[in-house]
Amino acid sequence: MTLSTNDVRELTEFRRELHQYPELSGNEVETAQRIVDALTPLSPNRVVTELGGHGVAAVFDSGVAGPTVLFRAELDALPIQEISDNPWVSKVPGHGHLCGHDGHMTMLLALGRMLAERPTAVGRVVLMFQPSEEDGRGARAVVADKKFEDLRPDYAFAIHVEPGRPFGFVSTRVGLMNCASQGLAISFVGKTAHAACPQEGVSPAMCIAQLIPALNTLSLADELNDQFRLVTVTHVQMGEPTFGIAPGEARLLVTLRTATDEALHALDEAARNLSRDLAEQAGLSLCFDVCDAFAATVNDAEATDMAVKAMNALGISCDDSGLPMRASEDFGVFGWDARAAILCLGPGERYAGLHNPDYDFPDALIPVGASIFERITRDLLGTRG
Ligand SMILES: [Zn+2]
Ligand SMILES: [Zn+2]
Repeated sequence: MTLSTNDVRELTEFRRELHQYPELSGNEVETAQRIVDALTPLSPNRVVTELGGHGVAAVFDSGVAGPTVLFRAELDALPIQEISDNPWVSKVPGHGHLCGHDGHMTMLLALGRMLAERPTAVGRVVLMFQPSEEDGRGARAVVADKKFEDLRPDYAFAIHVEPGRPFGFVSTRVGLMNCASQGLAISFVGKTAHAACPQEGVSPAMCIAQLIPALNTLSLADELNDQFRLVTVTHVQMGEPTFGIAPGEARLLVTLRTATDEALHALDEAARNLSRDLAEQAGLSLCFDVCDAFAATVNDAEATDMAVKAMNALGISCDDSGLPMRASEDFGVFGWDARAAILCLGPGERYAGLHNPDYDFPDALIPVGASIFERITRDLLGTRG
């Protein structure tokens, strides 16, 4: 079925409403409420709230045994000041929906409208609005939440808009889609001293100077294959911006990126060992913190095949261009227990990149994404006769 002109108009208005009130990861209170309010008239069998934080799930249950199919969207926005002349520009200074999550949520609500009008013959559909995608915490928190236990899907799908592709063109593939990655913060503590007598202190300066090139030697990033590993030093802070004090502490932030979760674990160990050795030689103590940990997102063969068949039936072109991607995506977690596939939907080739201050989800993609989700749903669960 296709969405009516009225549906498309209302959904577009809703997307623009979401766009004006972006909320950061972990703080998606009002966004979750807007989703619940938009779901209510669709009368899903159940709405589960506060899932892994502020996550919301709506269950459309046919009442007949069959698979559970989950579709995922994200609630969170970014700490970036939007630059736009659109009347729906963000009303929150410094925050913006600049990763298209407002559009992803709206595509799920569009699917909800189609399910409310024409329920499936068998099984259940779960519309999953997950929190905290941008910091990699949300999907893990959702699947760890006790309330998720009876929502566990057999299949899971998501669409992320990916600039650099023609409008309505999809890229996807079986296997790796998005790399595993994590932030590693390394803190060093020595002893400050007068700049005239640095020998009386323990400075981290030489340790940091040796550690940065040493960490770089761990990278092997020419090709994105199973051996791929990338170490990116993102920030260094040492002492104070003065001339009279020899520094006594430092902090180095580094992002580790690999093609598999196992390789990420090994790279983390290697980075820690290098840091420990150099800290020991310099007489510094150190500690580690892990942040923004993303599992690799790997598409299942059967789920990908289903999505490709659905797109073929709709006349939507698709290939594996630009894949896999170095950037991470926390949808991979839903694939730990389900046959999962994520699709990258193009907004047009000359379109601002994700996380750019002038990015805005193209509303014309709402019915395109929704039609792919609906086709997959009908192929798996049919339509009540
Ligand atoms: Zn993002
Ligand atoms: Zn995103």
